[in-house]
Amino acid sequence: MGINEDKPIVPFPEDVEFGLGMNPIKDEWRHPEKAKYAWDFMLPENTPLYATKSGKVLQVKVDSNLQGSEKLDEIIGTDPEMKKKFKEGTNFIIIDHGDGTYSDYEHLKYDGSEVVEGEDVVKGQVIGYSGNTGYSDAPHLHFEIFELTKKGDPKHLNKIRKTRSIPVNFKNMIPYMEKLVDRFGENKAPSDIVDYLASMYGVGLESNAKTDKKGPGGLEKITGIVSIISFAASLLFLTGITGNITGVSKNNFYGSIFTGLGLIFAGFWLFLKNSTKTKK
Ligand SMILES: [Zn+2]
Repeated sequence: MGINEDKPIVPFPEDVEFGLGMNPIKDEWRHPEKAKYAWDFMLPENTPLYATKSGKVLQVKVDSNLQGSEKLDEIIGTDPEMKKKFKEGTNFIIIDHGDGTYSDYEHLKYDGSEVVEGEDVVKGQVIGYSGNTGYSDAPHLHFEIFELTKKGDPKHLNKIRKTRSIPVNFKNMIPYMEKLVDRFGENKAPSDIVDYLASMYGVGLESNAKTDKKGPGGLEKITGIVSIISFAASLLFLTGITGNITGVSKNNFYGSIFTGLGLIFAGFWLFLKNSTKTKK
């Protein structure tokens, strides 16, 4: 699929603080199975949204004024009509990438489109603005890339739309992680969010999560251990504990050799420790 050669970019500016609508601790994702790879980016309303890849605008619907609510669940209750009303009150843009994949941007603000249907867009172009319309419990962008499961209509609000979200591996997610806060914008993202994303989406984030979690590299670990063993051995010899085995006269000799080895490996260890730090 074209998606690997042409990785999508994150759909909003890098300096925007954002959250993720998910709970990695409970392993809860907010979406049904067919949208399971969708991202919910908690964004301030009116955040400019980028085309993540080039393509053609398939559908634009930004005529809804219906605002989402923190109390969405309460408001809807068990009323299917209310649910339908909020679903249909969601503004969105769909872009056809021409390779069998489509980008779907939802909950845009009222009148929040910079593009019209049929227009060609290039990666990075501002296509609209985020909001909190329709089936939404807080300002956010629902973003997914989907493909069709059967011959159907990729357009929204069509009963025969059969789509399946696919994992999105953003080309440039890592710098954004600096701006990741929790859902309500209070705390820095805990590392388990990063780990969760890594397990969910792989490569791009995995490298980020690993540098933080892995700690010392293999060689660094080995040199550290060898230096500790050497120092321990030199201590044994110098204090004469091993006297019975080696004879008193040899204790100082072995002792100094192991002290030397300990110093050499400790030096190595310090060197590796610092060089891995600067590589980050
Ligand atoms: Zn969503």
